[in-house]
Amino acid sequence: MAELLKGKAVAEAIGLRSIEGVNQLKENGISPTLALFRVGNREDDVSYERGAMKRCAETGVEVIRYIFDEDVSEEEFYQSLEDANRNDAIHGILVFRPLPKRFNDEKLRNSIRPEKDVDGCSDLSLAGVFTDKELGFAPCTAQSVIEMLDRYQIGLKGKNVAVIGRSLVIGKPVSMLLLKRNATVTICHSRSTDLTAIASRADILVCATGKAEMIDRSYTNPKQIIIDVGISWNDEKQKLCGDVLFDDVADHVSAISPVPGGIGSVTTAVLVSHVVEAALRKNKIK
Ligand code: NAP
Repeated sequence: MAELLKGKAVAEAIGLRSIEGVNQLKENGISPTLALFRVGNREDDVSYERGAMKRCAETGVEVIRYIFDEDVSEEEFYQSLEDANRNDAIHGILVFRPLPKRFNDEKLRNSIRPEKDVDGCSDLSLAGVFTDKELGFAPCTAQSVIEMLDRYQIGLKGKNVAVIGRSLVIGKPVSMLLLKRNATVTICHSRSTDLTAIASRADILVCATGKAEMIDRSYTNPKQIIIDVGISWNDEKQKLCGDVLFDDVADHVSAISPVPGGIGSVTTAVLVSHVVEAALRKNKIK
């Protein structure tokens, strides 16, 4: 059986780092604060929000929630976002997306000031990830992959990493973060040919497709480390599952992050660490 790369220990280590930052901030009279923006009551959002609030409370980070009914106007939403941008007591802003279809997503996500964009959704934050500049923050899920590899002391220098998925939330930014660590990165997507050949040659396989259990053992090799970012609901089995067909793969690779209990358990810890970092940067405390 492969080593299980569990998210809990990773999240705890990040939490301890955050608490140190919070203590430094509090010594300087600063209370790190996250503003959460949610439209409607989508189950995924509400559950993530609950997890994020719990993590904030454990770490000493304040939360201000901006919750809107489904019929909120784009203008009202935008003005609240601008208030949070201008408010010096708010250090990080998280907007649950997708926003309603009638909203101009590009305008709204790019209106978040990069220094407060703790989930790295604005173009400027992403430009920072691509240019190695501290413009904003990397998307939390992409950063969580790096935190997990670091925590389990999985070196990246010179390693062949295949990333399956090229979204702006995960695939592309995580590829850049891996490249920054001197990995050799192959980015794959739905039009890639011979995906099993590319994937099965990789030392590390990062799966972020959202296609439930599509990765079976034909994509793997016995020395491989798999980070499964996907989260899907399997109706038949009535449980959450990842991109990886876990039972088929687990005996045939060296290590694997489970779903649930893997990357998903790390993202809120990274989010909180970004809020703390945003407050430290703003106040030039290091
Ligand atoms: P997305 O925007 O739908 O992107 C999926 C990517 O996978 C696309 O680039 C797509 O290729 C590629 N893909 C789809 N089917 C494929 C196939 N059969 N073969 C190869 N590539 C394929 O999804 P996302 O937002 O990146 O999210 C991906 C997964 O991560 C989802 O399950 C999501 O729920 C999960 N997620 C997890 C966390 C966490 O905290 N763990 C956070 C966010 C998201 P094309 O570009 O060619 O279409």
